[in-house]
Amino acid sequence: MPCCERKRTLPLRTLVIACTLLFLPLAACLAQPAPDAPASRIVSGPGGGCIAGALELPADGPGYQTVRASRSWFWGHPDTVAALETLGRRAEAAGLPTLYMNDISRPHGGPIVGLHASHQVGLDADVWLDVSPKPELTPAARDAVEVASLVTPDGRGVDPARWSAGHVTLLRLAAGLPGIDRILVNPAIKQQLCRTPMADRAWLRVIRPWYGHAAHMHLHFRCPTGQPECRDLAPVPPGDGCDATLAWWFEQLDVPPPPPAPLHPALPLPAACTAILAGPP
Ligand SMILES: [Zn+2]
Repeated sequence: MPCCERKRTLPLRTLVIACTLLFLPLAACLAQPAPDAPASRIVSGPGGGCIAGALELPADGPGYQTVRASRSWFWGHPDTVAALETLGRRAEAAGLPTLYMNDISRPHGGPIVGLHASHQVGLDADVWLDVSPKPELTPAARDAVEVASLVTPDGRGVDPARWSAGHVTLLRLAAGLPGIDRILVNPAIKQQLCRTPMADRAWLRVIRPWYGHAAHMHLHFRCPTGQPECRDLAPVPPGDGCDATLAWWFEQLDVPPPPPAPLHPALPLPAACTAILAGPP
């Protein structure tokens, strides 16, 4: 099977009927691998691990298109793929233009040297923070996609000429995805959300400030059920995060910044990953 075909062997119509009979949400159900596909197995955590039985996010779907395919990987746990497809549909339903989706993980996970400290177990995904209307792109044009930073050069706020209510909508939709653990964005973006009047602020909890991330958000999902070898990150603290922990990021702008500590310290690959990384997707 070519590397980029989705591992689904049942006809779509059969899957739809099966999902309906089982009273399963159609979107989540369709994202599951066919019964004869290898079961997913996540070993360790995002900073050093691997995944067997990953699914590939299709290049196009309702409300989204993948970009930079020649240098990116779109393989994830079936729940991650289903959640991203859900994000595309919910964004479309909310009236947002097509989303650009980028790296998830390699076919078996593992390191993506030089690009990501995490993204190793199919539970991390990058989505560009671009809510402007866009055409359907050719493969070549998709490789050339560049999205401008939403943050001013001094790092103290968002660019008012670029920030919009659509960004708030997109981040809120992402925060409501099933299984979401946290979403990393630039501190200036988190600050802008904190300053935005809104009735429901509970979702701000999972929006976490981090270095970079001025043009894209990094989605991290919790370990799915039935993955005993999967390692979750420490829980996100309670509260909306619009507090001293956010102010700290801006205090760092006044002093020489320390070298960023990796959120996902590099870990030695577990021995179980040797066979997984060498095997078929
Ligand atoms: Zn990322």
